[in-house]
Amino acid sequence: MPRVSEPVFRNHLLASLPAPALGRLRPSLKRVELPFGHVLNEPGSTVKEVVFLEKGIASLLVVLGNGDSIEVALVGAEGVVGIPPLFEVPTSAHRVTVQGTGHGYRLDIPSLRQAMRNDDDLRRLLLQSAYRTTLEMAQNAACNRLHEAEERLARWLLLMDDRHHDGTLQVTHELISLMLGTRRSTVTIASGILARAGLIEHRRGTIRVVNRPGLEAAACECYALMRNAGNNGDGNGKRPPDAPLPANLSSSVPDRDRFRAGRR
Ligand SMILES: [Zn+2]
Repeated sequence: MPRVSEPVFRNHLLASLPAPALGRLRPSLKRVELPFGHVLNEPGSTVKEVVFLEKGIASLLVVLGNGDSIEVALVGAEGVVGIPPLFEVPTSAHRVTVQGTGHGYRLDIPSLRQAMRNDDDLRRLLLQSAYRTTLEMAQNAACNRLHEAEERLARWLLLMDDRHHDGTLQVTHELISLMLGTRRSTVTIASGILARAGLIEHRRGTIRVVNRPGLEAAACECYALMRNAGNNGDGNGKRPPDAPLPANLSSSVPDRDRFRAGRR
């Protein structure tokens, strides 16, 4: 049993570590606040720490030469931010920003390297988490090219909601357009489709998920693939006791067809 003064970790990686490994790591973990909009890394910047999110959401963005950007992965309490040093790469390829206010624990890179050398469990969990992020990036590439705007929006809202938990997201259409790499007007049309179908409510600056099974049915297949990669790929199949249970996967091709037929 942990002592009263010791935090119980909500980050899935930390919570999955065997007690001896967590005990060795604990003195090096420093709590960090993650306010909305905080930039953890810029492209080309030296990665000084990895961050295990406890609450909140980090967005990994590719930034082009003209300043345009597109989100390529989301990381919440299921993973870790700052993965280049895991592969002996010192700099970030992405802009990493906080999209959902929260907090976490940071681990400086020298401590990370020492812990990875000394602890097989930690090294395995970190590398598996990094691999899941690369899977999400690959799926995003296909999704952005091949799937409809409202399917992508539904997928993105579900992934955000999975990590935010209370059903109300503080997001503007402008922010979503940056995240999905599409026009703001396209986001407005897509959110209107989802709202008229009774799946979400959007007010200025907030979107609330009101029919989660329906939103899952409206999302493209990428949502289930990304969610399962985040939930089941940690190598031991266990989830921390206080982690949210995965929602029942209700999406199916017939459901999506009904949704599409209904909005025509
Ligand atoms: Zn997709």
